[in-house]
Amino acid sequence: MSAQVLVLGAGIVGTCTALHLAMRGHRVVLVDRREPGRETSYGNAGIIQREAVEPYAFPQDWSVLANVALKRGAAVHYHLRALPAIAHGLRMYWSHSRPRTHAAISALYARLIEHSTSEHAPLIARAGAEDLVRRDGYHAVFRSDASFERAAARAHSLASTFGIRLQLLDGATLRRAEPGLRADAGLAGAVHWLDPWTVSDPGELVARYAALLAREGGEFARGDANTLRPCGSGWSVRTGSGTVEAEHAVLALGPWSDALVRTLGYRFPLFVKRGYHSHYRGSGPRLPMLDADAGLVLAPMAQGVRLTTGAEFALLDAPATPVQVDRAKQLANELFELGDAADRPWMGARPCTGDMLPLIGPAPRHRGLWFNFGHAHQGFTMGPVSGRLLAEMLDGTPTVVDPKPYAPARFG
Ligand SMILES: Cc1cc2nc3c(=O)[nH]c(=O)nc-3n(C[C@H](O)[C@H](O)[C@H](O)COP(=O)(O)OP(=O)(O)OC[C@H]3O[C@@H](n4cnc5c(N)ncnc54)[C@H](O)[C@@H]3O)c2cc1C
Repeated sequence: MSAQVLVLGAGIVGTCTALHLAMRGHRVVLVDRREPGRETSYGNAGIIQREAVEPYAFPQDWSVLANVALKRGAAVHYHLRALPAIAHGLRMYWSHSRPRTHAAISALYARLIEHSTSEHAPLIARAGAEDLVRRDGYHAVFRSDASFERAAARAHSLASTFGIRLQLLDGATLRRAEPGLRADAGLAGAVHWLDPWTVSDPGELVARYAALLAREGGEFARGDANTLRPCGSGWSVRTGSGTVEAEHAVLALGPWSDALVRTLGYRFPLFVKRGYHSHYRGSGPRLPMLDADAGLVLAPMAQGVRLTTGAEFALLDAPATPVQVDRAKQLANELFELGDAADRPWMGARPCTGDMLPLIGPAPRHRGLWFNFGHAHQGFTMGPVSGRLLAEMLDGTPTVVDPKPYAPARFG
């Protein structure tokens, strides 16, 4: 079988890349070892985060760091033995968390985020996925007056700099908006971010985008990206439907990208922040709720109330250690009667880069090879704009945003 473009990885990023290429008339084969949208893009909190103009920074405050080091709280967990292997990426991430550098990075991050809902919109419409999407934002809630005041001031500053909309809710107003909250929930207030959209089944949205790809003339094949080889002036990969050859190959393997690019000789500062979710049968919020003080998100999903956890610094393939799920469940139970778990904890991994920006663009040393990975905490948000940007670069046409800041070649 021959194709003009092979796209490896059918998460939100690879599927949207394949879709944009197909919509531009390319013959595309999208390859994954599983069905589309069954990994990280399945298990996230489902928020298309139009407000997330800043990537998550490491706290610079020593008391917060001490809590992290001592593994107190639910927000962060780590495997000590993983730290040497990820030290390079973490050090870079730490230095990019300093206020001045972080502000510069945020300006570049915001250029992609700005096109998040507007780039999902036409795909949602064409994929017939309106039933999965709400357009009334989410609540970031705060447990103490002090943290609410700090967050409100920061939110106003971001809103005025980046043109995003919010509403502040005091405890009583929040309770009216979220009648399922326990009587003794004791929340100081919330920032209601109005621009984000929320999805009741993120994996299903990717599956619908993949079905749209088929209608646009693209193909999907089950196969292993590790069989990627140079072939003539292009690339080939083995799939269940035979060997596929193509002029171009796009690598969009999310957290698995690092292992494959290493075999090609690239050493990027990549690491993962793993995360877990569990579904519960009891009561939960009407809109997704980020409990920033506790480090968790509760989201109403097709499968039940989905509780997602913060970051776990560990190797991608290390055995699961879902201690954060138990801690987060206890803290979330202070807000809602979550009831029994409907399933065992799911684990995923956010694909992170040391400088907090994704890698989108040509591979520095291989003709016809392209990268699209490293979208960290907001890959579900940025999938469509990243896919469009990559497709436009491959076509050599004007791009939706300046691709330079995301070029893989920036790492030398
Ligand atoms: C707990 C949690 C909550 C999150 N919440 C949000 C949120 O609310 N909003 C948001 O924007 N983002 C969120 N994220 C981040 C987001 O989920 C990721 O950034 C995004 O899903 C990454 O997409 P991807 O397509 O790059 O990777 P993936 O979805 O992981 O796709 C990679 C694909 O590559 C395939 N693959 C891997 N190896 C091979 C191989 N050898 N051969 C063939 N195929 C292979 C996999 O099967 C997979 O389908 C969250 C993440 C977590 C963990």
